[in-house]
Amino acid sequence: METLTGIEAYGQSLEALADAGRLRRCRTVEPVPGEPWLVCRVDGRRAVNFCSNNYLGLTEDARLKEAAMAAVRKHGVGSGASRLVSGTSGLVLELETELARFKDAEAALVFNTGYQANVALIQGLVAAGDWLFLDKLNHASIVDGALLSGARWTRYRHLDWEHLARKLEKAPADGRKWIVTDSLFSMDGDLADLRVLCDLAERYGALILVDEAHATGVFGEERGSGLAEAQGVCRRIALQMGTFSKGLGGFGAYVAGPEVLIRVLINRARGLIYSTALPPAVVGAALAAVRVVRDDPSPRQKLWENVRYFKPRLDAVLARHGLSCPSESQILPVVLGDRVMAVCEALLARGYFVQGIRPPTVPEGTSRLRMTLSAAHTREQLDGLLSALDEVLA
Ligand SMILES: *Cc1c(COP(=O)(O)O)cnc(C)c1O
Repeated sequence: METLTGIEAYGQSLEALADAGRLRRCRTVEPVPGEPWLVCRVDGRRAVNFCSNNYLGLTEDARLKEAAMAAVRKHGVGSGASRLVSGTSGLVLELETELARFKDAEAALVFNTGYQANVALIQGLVAAGDWLFLDKLNHASIVDGALLSGARWTRYRHLDWEHLARKLEKAPADGRKWIVTDSLFSMDGDLADLRVLCDLAERYGALILVDEAHATGVFGEERGSGLAEAQGVCRRIALQMGTFSKGLGGFGAYVAGPEVLIRVLINRARGLIYSTALPPAVVGAALAAVRVVRDDPSPRQKLWENVRYFKPRLDAVLARHGLSCPSESQILPVVLGDRVMAVCEALLARGYFVQGIRPPTVPEGTSRLRMTLSAAHTREQLDGLLSALDEVLA
């Protein structure tokens, strides 16, 4: 093909990334017929998946699959329009009613993805003249929403409440104040203390938006709705956002909170207004997932059993190699620096698929191996990864 004028520089930018060890590519992951979902082929090589966010194994749950297929049979494969035109079906409203109850909130609103939800929420609720206080390690979609909102924004050191308090103290009294945080941090596996955050918000007249993407279905003894439930603060948090794409096994996102804020979002959130509503299969699966998580604690209990089995054994392996993993959850990162991709390859050669996460997803100098556990992992698979890791790190 003839070279288009002006694209050479893009090629050079890719070479620069490769030279810095930062070039990314998408690996092909395919199911192995007759095997459970976690056993896959990665670029043709058979491996056990230790990097998906399918924490509860719901991706292949028969109840979700049947709900998705029933929705297709009844409604077809597309929603036909955006929510405000003709894309709001009874199925979507049923999901929103169920979600509001699940999250102990007045109302809920479904979005197409977590990324879109965060951008749309922040842009829809916060404007020039307002203040945003973000954790330094918040998800990229939160940062993008902040940029798009035009609000004044500042980042406090990761989970450093003193630092946040000082920033709140110094902010002028004019304008609304929103604190935005992930509840379970996706690249570190650590948790926000939402009770402390609520105390601060109440003291300084701020509202809280919490992103429960990785905590939904994982935390919460009774309903499994997230860390806000587990820490007993659902009603003190203005907006609880989360996704159906991780623990809930499917796709899509939601926000739950006071009806007035949900109505403002319906009127102002551009990501909701100018995008076609989710297809019925996705909505059907999400509705089934919420019900499964609420009524059946066994996948959640199985996940935590796996975490309790694996974590101390991982700590012992890592200690032998002078490494550690300070996680408090099913997300288990080990900072390895520049050798991370070589370690990934060596693990894949031994039949374990674990991703390396590099900057700019994580801060400079903190490239890490990010292992994630699922309720569907067997003891044998967990033990296998531990011995492969021990071998590779040696
Ligand atoms: C994955 C993730 C998102 C984005 O959700 P998608 O549904 O994948 O777009 C948002 N916030 C956090 C904290 C996430 O980890």
